[in-house]
Amino acid sequence: MSTANTPVSNFIRTIIDADLASGKHSSIVTRFPPEPNGYLHVGHAKSICLNFGLAVDYQGKCNLRFDDTNPEKESFEYAQSIQEDVRWLGFQWDGEVRWASDYFEELYAFAVELIQKGLAYVDDLTPEEMREYRGTLTEPGKNSPYRDRSIDENLDLFGRMRAGEFADGARVLRAKIDMASSNINMRDPVIYRIRRAHHIRTGDAWCIYPMYDYTHCISDALEAITHSICTLEFEDHRPLYDWVLDNVSVACHPRQYEFSRLELHYTITSKRKLLQLVNEKKVSGWDDPRMPTIQGMRRRGYTASGLREFARRIGVSKSENSVDMAIMEGAIREDLEPRAPRVMAIINPLKVTISNFEGAEAREADFHPNLPELGKRAVPFGRELYIEADDFAEVPPAGWKRLTLGGEVRLRHSYVMRCDEAVKDSSGNVVELKCSIDHATLGKNPEGRKVKGVIHFLSCEHALPAEIRLYDRLFTVARPDADRDVDFSNYLNPDSLKVVQGWVEASVKESAPETHYQFERLGYFCTDRRDHKPGSLVFNRTVTLKDSWTREQA
Ligand code: ATP
Ligand code: MG
Repeated sequence: MSTANTPVSNFIRTIIDADLASGKHSSIVTRFPPEPNGYLHVGHAKSICLNFGLAVDYQGKCNLRFDDTNPEKESFEYAQSIQEDVRWLGFQWDGEVRWASDYFEELYAFAVELIQKGLAYVDDLTPEEMREYRGTLTEPGKNSPYRDRSIDENLDLFGRMRAGEFADGARVLRAKIDMASSNINMRDPVIYRIRRAHHIRTGDAWCIYPMYDYTHCISDALEAITHSICTLEFEDHRPLYDWVLDNVSVACHPRQYEFSRLELHYTITSKRKLLQLVNEKKVSGWDDPRMPTIQGMRRRGYTASGLREFARRIGVSKSENSVDMAIMEGAIREDLEPRAPRVMAIINPLKVTISNFEGAEAREADFHPNLPELGKRAVPFGRELYIEADDFAEVPPAGWKRLTLGGEVRLRHSYVMRCDEAVKDSSGNVVELKCSIDHATLGKNPEGRKVKGVIHFLSCEHALPAEIRLYDRLFTVARPDADRDVDFSNYLNPDSLKVVQGWVEASVKESAPETHYQFERLGYFCTDRRDHKPGSLVFNRTVTLKDSWTREQA
């Protein structure tokens, strides 16, 4: 059985093993190539763990390279957040951050080389005409009337495109490959377009920008990437990747390998759609804890090691990678279980008055049953307590082990308590319980009877108020974007966020933002990165203790 941190073998590792064994490569270089046009999501986390993880396991290198060829959509804010996310996930790129725009001059020179070899031409067809000429999946395309321009004319026109002599969209540079190819990507793809847009790094230095397919392979080659790993939708682009590298004078020819994208149930993994949620204010921002963004998951309390473990469990292959949320939640729970201190909190308080207790006292209790190094804290007891309202039932269902009228439960780390009376308001709701304790049961079993149930509680006098944010799935269906005709926002879960004013024990008073706790019996919680401060405590529910959701739905 593989245990945490043991790499799980996959077809990419098999290829790498073979390349190292045959001496094709003596070490590996991978890269993670995001476009800085949004915040990273859980799918990117999979790709980060794969690319950076391979570099770690094989003692190779992994570059972080921004694919910044679409100036209108890109920003430094996005680039900044991406770097923060990669580091937070526990990885470090080799050397400086790289940018496709670092290579604009080389990319231009390679395009000139293609023209000189008769392998690229300037085309004046309008976008509509170009679409018409491209053909379809079943019909071949036809050659543009501009395809046979002379090399000199192409060199002249391309130079003038760069010099800004033509309007946006008036002309493009195309690779001259094969308009009859069965692969549409090979039907003379556009490799440069004219676009007067301010670029975040090169400003207004360029008015022509290289296309992704052309840029990506050359950037890989310039960085001497050995294994260029991308998602399956690029499989049909691989012939173009290879064509470009076969026809320009670069020293190395990286190989592209494709794996299947992660799709996580009950959420969406598309930057464009996540941006729509942000823009339409369906969520509070990119780091809303319900978002599948790395920033959102982090704020909710998902841990970097839990996410890495999730990536390890889902594996890497070419078959569909549609993953149930339970796998993610299981990985996060298991990561938190052995290290989060355990404290008591009350989400929905019901007041209890102890008739046979005066004053106050406190008992020490460990923060974690298996981690004495986490220390102890005082658990105060007093005449007035809060318990969780649903730990009391006037008419208990069969098998009820918690509190009921005339019944007994143990208060966690404290006494056995009996409920003597339920006080009701005018509409018959239970608003308070009158109880009594057995003084002989502090840390001891009661004499002559068994008490099965244990419930948590807080002493009212010592409890601190806290805002508790309870998160549920963002969507009500497993695949919110499966149906092209229905906008995914129709499936937003109206109950995905519930904010309650609850109570927590005093030991969490000075907790820093992003501190993880187990609230006993309630789940794992994390202090909010943005809003939690001393005197204004805010906890996000990361995940419940058990997978209650699947059971409820069943
Ligand atoms: P999106 O469609 O969400 O905008 P993208 O693929 O356009 O994603 P990029 O910034 O180009 O986003 O992606 C950077 C890297 O992350 C690419 O190598 C891409 O293949 C990978 N990646 C993106 N989404 C996923 C996913 N769902 N699962 C695995 N890898 C992904
Ligand atoms: Mg992309």
